[in-house]
Amino acid sequence: MADASLNPFLRAQQAFKEAVDTLGLEPAVYEILKHPLRSFEVAVPFTRDDGSLQVFTGYRVQHNDALGPTKGGLRFHAAVTLDEVKALAMWMSVKCALLGLPYGGGKGGIACDVDQLSPREIERLSREYIRAVSLVIGPDKDIPAPDVSTNPQIMAWMVDEYSRIRGENTFGLITGKPLVIGGSAGRMDATGRGLVFATKQLATELGMAFEGSRIAIQGFGNVGSVAAEIAHAMGARIVAVSDKDGGLYNPAGLDIPDLLAYKRTHRALGGYPQAEPLGNAELLTLPVDMLFPAALENQITADNAARIRARIVGEGANGPTTPEADRILFDKGVMVVPDVLGNSGGVTVSYFEWVQNQARFYWTEAEVNQRLEAYMSQAMAAMHTMHERFGVTLRKAAYLVAVDRIAQAMRYRGWLN
Ligand code: NAD
Repeated sequence: MADASLNPFLRAQQAFKEAVDTLGLEPAVYEILKHPLRSFEVAVPFTRDDGSLQVFTGYRVQHNDALGPTKGGLRFHAAVTLDEVKALAMWMSVKCALLGLPYGGGKGGIACDVDQLSPREIERLSREYIRAVSLVIGPDKDIPAPDVSTNPQIMAWMVDEYSRIRGENTFGLITGKPLVIGGSAGRMDATGRGLVFATKQLATELGMAFEGSRIAIQGFGNVGSVAAEIAHAMGARIVAVSDKDGGLYNPAGLDIPDLLAYKRTHRALGGYPQAEPLGNAELLTLPVDMLFPAALENQITADNAARIRARIVGEGANGPTTPEADRILFDKGVMVVPDVLGNSGGVTVSYFEWVQNQARFYWTEAEVNQRLEAYMSQAMAAMHTMHERFGVTLRKAAYLVAVDRIAQAMRYRGWLN
């Protein structure tokens, strides 16, 4: 049998299987969940700037739509494969169900290297992709969003192309759009903000004060820098941050607004005067209360997990902790807010964006943030109940909540018999 740990699709199947078995559900639940309902592979021909024709391969996978239309990002990356997209769609099913969103999981992508394409080529490619999948996506079928190397501008071209095909403006097709064409206030900050909400709530449950707590953050991009800014504003002490070029440490706490201004000017963290330089590996094992890995996958491994000193690990990145490290942290009593919850602020506010598009009524940023906190809080509570009931990690508990909800929907809909 293939090594499940190396293939993301087999790993996702394994996680569903464990959840179905732990919950004691009928085997039909796993039989349905182990494969996506629909997987599309499409040819995406487009014209290069020199007039030649190139054809890339695109994908769209709809894992399960028992709870509602499928939803998930679109990535442009040379290494995109159908198995990877399937795994990511399965993982979106878990996130959406855990958060109580009326969606199933989907994902898509194009195997391409965007660095080799001009902006006009990216526009043509994006429009052609939408033409290729237009029959299988839609506001009530499957709703894409940005992911690796895609952004609000690409979403805008895509929603425009779909609207032209349909002959009517269809802003609810896609989320992560620019504000002026149906984007949501608060969407850009949502993932970092959600990470802070989730870790703060867990800290409170553990009897730890968030205010004054020491936090180290790996990755100072969209997720890490926003989480740093918000946690700092709430009174936490951000003692260390890092990016791909290395990190900074100040045990008394970094002045995050000042550091953000420094980064804007110098386009780098290095050389910031109010801190000592720090390596990325050292950051992970600092004496802190909370650690937010918000950069890459596989950062906390069997090699360093025993040396993690944080009480809470809040996963902003996707898959930063390996399964072996997860077990070590669990045995040490380190609580891990799993990625499916820790970085779910983005998909939650994407849902709010879609709701606002359907209603054609737009909320203030304060309303968005308040609703985000309420959704995250409910998901945390549901996960915690499963954690206590089955004595499993928060990650496994998150899967139990999600699989239980999807199974209930499938049962009511008569899919299981
Ligand atoms: P980003 O590109 O804005 O930032 C990534 C950061 O990580 C940068 O600061 C980069 O310098 C740093 N980095 C790269 N390699 C590093 C290394 N070896 N060590 C330390 N830092 C390193 O990306 P992002 O949007 O902030 O996403 C970060 C993670 O969060 C990814 O795993 C992504 O999949 C996940 N995520 C993001 C969102 C979102 O809404 N942006 C939503 C869900 C999940």
